[in-house]
Amino acid sequence: MTELESNLIKLEGRIARFRKEGLGHFIGGARCDSVCGDTFENHSPVDSRLICTVARGKKADIDRAACAARDAFPAWRETPGAERRDILHAVADKILEHAEEIALLESYDTGQALRFMRKAAVRGAENFRFFADKAPEAANGLSLPTGSHMNFTLRQPIGPIGVITPWNTPFMLSTWKIAPALAAGCTLVHKPAEWSPVTATLLAEFMHEAGVPSGVINVVHGLGEESGKALTEHEAIKAVAFIGESSTGSAIMAQGAPSLKRVHFELGGKNPVIVFADADLERALDAAVFMIYSLNGERCTSSSRVLVERCIYDEFTQRLAERAAKIKLGHPLDPSSELGPLIHARHLEKVTSYFALARDEGVRILAGGASPAKPPSDGHYVEATLFAGADKDMRVAREEIFGPVLTAIAFDGEDDALAIANDVRYGLAAYVWTGDMGRALRMALEVEAGMVWVNSENVRHLPAPFGGVKASGVGRDGGDYSFDFYMETKNICLAMGEHQIPKLGV
Ligand code: NAD
Repeated sequence: MTELESNLIKLEGRIARFRKEGLGHFIGGARCDSVCGDTFENHSPVDSRLICTVARGKKADIDRAACAARDAFPAWRETPGAERRDILHAVADKILEHAEEIALLESYDTGQALRFMRKAAVRGAENFRFFADKAPEAANGLSLPTGSHMNFTLRQPIGPIGVITPWNTPFMLSTWKIAPALAAGCTLVHKPAEWSPVTATLLAEFMHEAGVPSGVINVVHGLGEESGKALTEHEAIKAVAFIGESSTGSAIMAQGAPSLKRVHFELGGKNPVIVFADADLERALDAAVFMIYSLNGERCTSSSRVLVERCIYDEFTQRLAERAAKIKLGHPLDPSSELGPLIHARHLEKVTSYFALARDEGVRILAGGASPAKPPSDGHYVEATLFAGADKDMRVAREEIFGPVLTAIAFDGEDDALAIANDVRYGLAAYVWTGDMGRALRMALEVEAGMVWVNSENVRHLPAPFGGVKASGVGRDGGDYSFDFYMETKNICLAMGEHQIPKLGV
């Protein structure tokens, strides 16, 4: 039996329950259907089969979940940090115990290759461990003394949070929001993406089994314009942590305005990888290929534009094309596959529309540019693609395609590289490859991005800030930065003696 066959058998065992019962909401510690009884269908992008029907949440379901989160908040806020730490470590243990199950289901629900989803499941556990250890110190602040007064600050959890996540790596991304919110003492309602809902329910169940009290974590499934919108408008929800498209971020900001919601946005990107001729070109090639063709290119920090110094442009793009042509497209549950099917027929249509556009814009397609003639299954596959000879003003060089599509642009010198890199609406990540450290620093300072990696791909350090500028985001996650969002800073000022108080009406 091949590994793929054995994984498909394991998957059937895991999925049978969802096929039979459907996927419900998880509110106040229990599974439930929608108040109105509506459902929608969730099909796999791998073979188009129905995975399960899913409860279609509306305003009434969000109301139930937000009230459950509001009611659970006082007790969770008062739970000592050390106790919250232990519970969150128990969640991490549970995730590790079920990591293979999570990876298989996530892979089948999203089309992402199993080799990456195995790592993502483990990273989900790491997120919980990291924030578990920070829970006891989350309330810490500063002391700011003056001659007459002692000011000191402390942080208090803001209240129930709305967490809204996308479909690209849903399990890992949701833990990145849920773990710090709970460590801070907040409760929450999670609205996962309608195209990949399965692991959100699984996570809530694991959390419940690990000892997270009822009402602290609630999940409401449904469509963005229905349950998502209702969540951002609910009075009991104090802040919204959102990951998704820039245009959805704008809508959420408007929807949350009447109730003055605090928002944290991780949005789209069109991230440049800038390769100078003096770089270690072998390593730059490995990193550029990895950052666009891993995770199906459905990755916010993907290096979707490669800016190459003109004197090495032809050779470097030729080598990129050779590597792209060899990317192993395959069934995502086959552990040797590097590229799986895209999430949905609508997304496939969007990504492939850029192939025609590239031809119209006069770009050369050096690799891919089509769906495979013999797809490994009845899914939404597309070949690893490289556009070359692009100009910074072309749409293929400016718009987020969110698939395995890399656009190569030539540049002449640092100023030109910076002008091209910064001439897009996005500013999430940038990657600079050079052997000259002075140049690396100059580029890092001037490039418009929230995160810059020099001579590296996206290697994460959890205490470091994560987030974007311009249309790529508002706010930062990671380490203590997460607590700045999930908590309010309070200043307490004590007079130390009898300072002079201005007298009026004497
Ligand atoms: P999306 O914006 O379409 O949907 C994201 C979530 O928002 C879904 O759960 C959806 O149901 C919900 N939603 C949609 N409309 C809503 C509304 N009016 N009110 C409330 N919720 C609403 O994004 P997507 O297509 O699922 O994900 C892809 C996008 O996510 C890409 O742009 C990608 O760059 C971005 N992303 C960013 C990061 C980051 O860290 N910056 C990480 C991953 C993905």
